[in-house]
Amino acid sequence: MTALLHRLAAIVGDVHLLPGEEAEDFAHDATFMEHRPLAVVRPADTDQVAAVVKACAEAAIPVVARGQGTSLVGGPVPLGGGVVVSLDRLDHLEIDVSNTVAVAGAGVVTGQLDQAANRHGLMYPPDPASVEMCSIGGNVACNSGGLRCVKYGVTADYVMGLTVVLADGRVLRLGGRLRKRSSGYRLIQLFVGSEGTLGVVTEVIVKLVPLPRHRAAAMVTFASVEDAAQAVSRVLASGHLPAAIELMDRVTLRLVRAKLPEGFDPEVEAVLLVEQDGNDEEFVQAELLRMVELLGGVEDRVAQSSLERERLWEARREFGKVLMAIPHRFFPEDVAVPIGSIPEMVRRVRRLERDTGLEICIVGHAGDGNLHPTILFREEQRHLVGPTAARIFQDAIELGGTISAEHGLGALKRDYAEAEHGPLALGLMRDLKRLLDPQGILNPHKVLPEQPADETFLERLPGWVPADGRGRRMEAGL
Ligand SMILES: Cc1cc2nc3c(=O)[nH]c(=O)nc-3n(C[C@H](O)[C@H](O)[C@H](O)COP(=O)(O)OP(=O)(O)OC[C@H]3O[C@@H](n4cnc5c(N)ncnc54)[C@H](O)[C@@H]3O)c2cc1C
Repeated sequence: MTALLHRLAAIVGDVHLLPGEEAEDFAHDATFMEHRPLAVVRPADTDQVAAVVKACAEAAIPVVARGQGTSLVGGPVPLGGGVVVSLDRLDHLEIDVSNTVAVAGAGVVTGQLDQAANRHGLMYPPDPASVEMCSIGGNVACNSGGLRCVKYGVTADYVMGLTVVLADGRVLRLGGRLRKRSSGYRLIQLFVGSEGTLGVVTEVIVKLVPLPRHRAAAMVTFASVEDAAQAVSRVLASGHLPAAIELMDRVTLRLVRAKLPEGFDPEVEAVLLVEQDGNDEEFVQAELLRMVELLGGVEDRVAQSSLERERLWEARREFGKVLMAIPHRFFPEDVAVPIGSIPEMVRRVRRLERDTGLEICIVGHAGDGNLHPTILFREEQRHLVGPTAARIFQDAIELGGTISAEHGLGALKRDYAEAEHGPLALGLMRDLKRLLDPQGILNPHKVLPEQPADETFLERLPGWVPADGRGRRMEAGL
């Protein structure tokens, strides 16, 4: 091990190597999961990343790529120990206006990429609620979504080129600054959403789109979450495409009440935040009003200024911050169902809430059918969290949905992958993993199931306490 650490220090420089005992900040992500690495390295460029991965491959030591550690599924937590490769120093950024692309080091913070594009009248649309913290490399690794994705699509829709360090240290360059290509398999998409298990992304080329000159937003209230969910389906089915349409229920509103617009009653059952954008101010406003009418809520508040519009969105963004302030007391889900099934999914979550006595916030990117039912729990309810989350997964799958629309599987959800994809697809995924990473050193214990879901999944939820080397099993069921 000492020989490996010396070799790594020679590659990145002593000051950019952190031994495991000083690596507390790199041992966890935004969940409760935690495991210390052997060491953390902070390489400066692709060549250094390649040399680090090659050294680890020769020593058969795990390599865990890390962006900003905002994962909600234990993705960058080095569960197999090994070397964490922090990409934060790969922060070069070029806005190539003539080709309307951005070329970014994997460590560039996504919000900064978008702001740099904005200065040229361009925009990078995928905007996770964590946009001010997370990295573009992490977004590619998770195929992240966000608030604007209903109209603009997710990260995968924007990636045009990638530089990837493979498991043996070879450097693979894919795609480029061009918009179309139909020559062979789309290898880029294999790495998008692979959560650091197939390669380490060091540079990304993403498509940019024109920055809309005008935006208009409104908050519409509803007598029930089901009514709000039905309203979303109605608007989308009627030929209108909002720039964003976000759902927040009563529990969520209570959590973010400090940021709600003045005079707004947080005791309503649900709200939809709807936004339209475009270049023609009158058209944008008219479209918004038409959508508000179609939504048919109890009350609505249309923002009268950009300041007021910002204020409406602040309330939605506040949700993530409130959760971060109560770590270990919440468990966020990330399911998506076909848009027409949102009302039924909401009904099932509400039923589960009644059956368990747990509080479950329903918040999410409703226009994508992507809900984040977030379980809030007290210490004595901890044992109910795992089984409740598992039921939410089952419900989403039964309705033709997914257990993860944008956060990825990481460690927390990996054991449910087969329930969603079936054995044939999962077998192919395992074959691809073996082909690209025969030693299994890239981000081990993530994405692919290791145990049947009903045996180990629950151990990985918040009640899990390492005790006997394997962790104790949660006992209570529903
Ligand atoms: C408050 C809050 C709100 C959030 N809202 C959203 C949201 O709206 N939409 C959404 O999609 N997500 C959301 N997330 C989840 C999270 O921000 C995203 O998954 C994000 O893409 C993670 O980026 P990161 O840089 O923090 O990556 P990390 O957390 O460091 O890593 C995430 C995964 O990607 C891998 N990885 C990171 N960088 C690389 C790389 N360069 N090459 C290969 N693999 C890599 C890691 O190994 C890990 O498996 C939210 C998180 C928080 C805390």
